[in-house]
Order: sequence, then structure tokens, then C-alpha cells
Amino acid sequence: MVNAMYHFPKDFLWGAATASYQVEGNTKNCNWYTWEQAGKIINDQRSNLACDWWGGRWREDFDLASSGGHNAHRFSIEWSRVQPAPDRWDEDAIDRYREMLRGLNERGLTPMVTLHHFTEPLWITEIGSWENQEILPYFERYIQKIVEALKDYTNLWITINEPNILTVSSYILGDFPPGKNNLLSAGKVTANLVRAHAAAHRLIHQIQPNASVGIAHNFHSIKPKRSWSPLDRLSSQVVYSVLNEIFPNALVDGIVRIPFFNIHIPEAKGTQDFFGLNYYTRENIGFSLLRPKELFIRRSHNPQAQLSDTAMIANEPEGFFEAMKWSTKYKLPIIITENGIENADDSLRTSYLAQHIHQLWRAVNYNFPIKGYFHWTLVDNFEWERGWTQRFGLWELDIETQARRKRPSADFYADICGKNGLSSDMVAKYAPAVLGILFP
Ligand code: BGC
Repeated sequence: MVNAMYHFPKDFLWGAATASYQVEGNTKNCNWYTWEQAGKIINDQRSNLACDWWGGRWREDFDLASSGGHNAHRFSIEWSRVQPAPDRWDEDAIDRYREMLRGLNERGLTPMVTLHHFTEPLWITEIGSWENQEILPYFERYIQKIVEALKDYTNLWITINEPNILTVSSYILGDFPPGKNNLLSAGKVTANLVRAHAAAHRLIHQIQPNASVGIAHNFHSIKPKRSWSPLDRLSSQVVYSVLNEIFPNALVDGIVRIPFFNIHIPEAKGTQDFFGLNYYTRENIGFSLLRPKELFIRRSHNPQAQLSDTAMIANEPEGFFEAMKWSTKYKLPIIITENGIENADDSLRTSYLAQHIHQLWRAVNYNFPIKGYFHWTLVDNFEWERGWTQRFGLWELDIETQARRKRPSADFYADICGKNGLSSDMVAKYAPAVLGILFP
């Protein structure tokens, strides 16, 4: 048997990523809470305590991360907690985030802070949320307040998580609040998100000149279902451009290229210091007259690919390489801000992890400027409209008792982080099914 090791560069960041609403629990002053109460989550589930971070269990989870060999952690600030009303800041809530950041620093974990991860305060929803430009001065004040309050603890910021998914899920597919199916709204929202990011980038640099600021962009590897079909090819081109290109390109040249018209936002030009990349899966796109609500688009996976528990994610590691290669065109340092799979019994996660880390290593050795990797996620958490039906954690969560149980993937990932590499021994131990593929 071969005995080999794929090494990563010195100072590579290894961590997990989380988001406030998904882990804190009882986040009542926000649009997702109302969405839950309206029965919009699968099986009418509720986030309830989530992972009980607001009750203090972030300590336990940061311990898990540091005992799991991580040297970094990505988490987010809940706007609805720190600014419960337009004219009111909750200093205690801000203190808690300071404490969490100190908690990360004390454990030797480099923090990356997301300022907006899908949720918003209810008073923002009441003024029309991202459709209304009036959100912008409020967003700026929020950014200013938080960055001033937390600048001593981190300089690595994500302004907005997955603006593309936020727009499509909230304003085209309607799975996220406010549940709209309106292309015009989606266009307005995209432009306002670009404006918001640009303003945040400028402000953060004013407050903290050495800050590093980006977004977390979700890249979908997209192929036409039937390559001979012009309609499938056209549909996949449209989906590719809407999901993958519009937002990050606007941050390069300040032009939001929405199908059929352009919106010029010059202040957005050159407003990324690094490229935050989220990658989960590859999809085939076909044209179907039976799907008017989904804009005649039918999504599927390669029939041969292994699928996650709810079939949302196919194990397609080459799509990850494609994503990283594509990101290099932005000529920025790249950080993998999310990657993972929902798999409660962990039977597929170890292979997924091994194969994706292997692609990461390939990309690093193509000299793509990749600086770190954040796995989604640390402990099972509340998966938006899919509630508790999807389990993405390295650690399993018992939602009744709040007990955490370690999955084999947590040990596997700890080994990768600890050795700053992926070895044939590790793969033989944790993911023997792919040993022959990764170490032929
Ligand atoms: C989001 C996370 C989410 C994950 C898995 C990403 O789109 O940023 O919040 O939990 O996917 O569904």
C-alpha cells in the first residue's frame, strides 16, 4: 500500500463555519422567526433552542472546535439582537459577541465574522427589506456600530453571506422570507445588496485600515442535462450566469448585469479583498414546460453520483475544483468559506471530505491562492426551510437534550487540521472506499 501525504501550506486556515440564526436559539425579533411561526419550515419544525449558543453553549462548541484541531472559526452576528429597534442598540448583546470573539482568540482560533447571514430584524422587514433602498443607511449604521465594537478582535469580515442564494430563495423561488416569486423584486434586491456590500467595504476600511473584507459566494457547478438540447444549454447558461456571475462580477466593474438591462453602481468597483467561496455540489439543468413556477427549469444530479440524505447534495468533488479554478479569475486570495454535506449517519461524509480536501490540495498545488477552508458545519444546526431534516455537523446534536456526539468525520478532520495535510493512512482509516481513487 502507498504511504503518502498531501501537504498544505504553512498558516493554512482550517475551521468550521456557522451562522447566528442556525445556532443561537430563540432569535425572536427576526424575519425567520415569523417565517417559522407561519408554518413555512418543513414538517412545521421550529428552531427553538437551536444549538443554544445564546444560552452559553458556544463555549462548549468552541472547545470542540479547538480539540478538533481547528485553528479558525467563521460565525455571524445577528443584526436583530444587536439593534432590536431602529433607535436602540443592545449593548449586552454586543458584549456577548465580544466575549465569543475573546473565546475564539483564547482558544487560538482565528475568527472570521459574517455581518449578514440571511436574517434581518423585523423592523427592517417592515420597511420592505432589501427591496427598499431605505435599508442602506440602516445597514451602514449597523456595520459601523459592530465593526467599531469588535475591531480589536478580528480583521476578517464577510459583509453578506451568499447574496445570490438570498435573492433567488427569497424573491424567485420563495422558499425564504418574504416568499416572493418576482423577477423585478429580485433585480432590485440584487442591486441593493451590491450597494450595501460596497458601502460596508468602504466603512470597514475607514474604521480598520488593515481589514480584509469579502462576501461568501455560493458557486454552483452547472451542466446542461442533455448537452445536445439547445433549450437545456440555454437554461443552464441562464442559471449559471444568474447564480454564479452577476454578483461577483458587479464587485469587479460596478455593473449589475441583470438579464435585459444593466444597473451601474460605480462605488462597487474593486470592493473585495479576498474571494470567499462556498461550494456544495454540481447540478444538471434541463428545460421543462411542466415547471412554470421554477421558470421552466428542472434541476437534477448525475445519476451515478452518491447523494446526501435528502438528495440535495451530490458528491461531486470535481465541481469543487472547477469552482476554485473559476474563482482565480478574480485575482484575489481565495478562502473556502463553506463546504460540506448533510449525512446523519456519517457514512458518506468521510468520503466527501476526503475527496474535497484532495481537490483543495490539487488547487493549492496549481498555485491557486487558497488561504483556508471552513467546513459546514461544526454541530448539526437549524437548516433554514429544511429545519432539522438535514444534518451537516461534524458533531451530531440531540435536539431534545442538547448533547453533542462526535461523528467519525470530526476525528478525520481533526487529523487533517492537526497534520496540515491528508495522508493515505487517514484515508485508509476513515474513508477506505476512496483510498484507491485518492492514492492510486
Ligand atoms: C448557507 C448555510 C446553510 C448551508 C447548507 C449555505 O447556503 O450559507 O447557512 O446552512 O448552505 O444548507
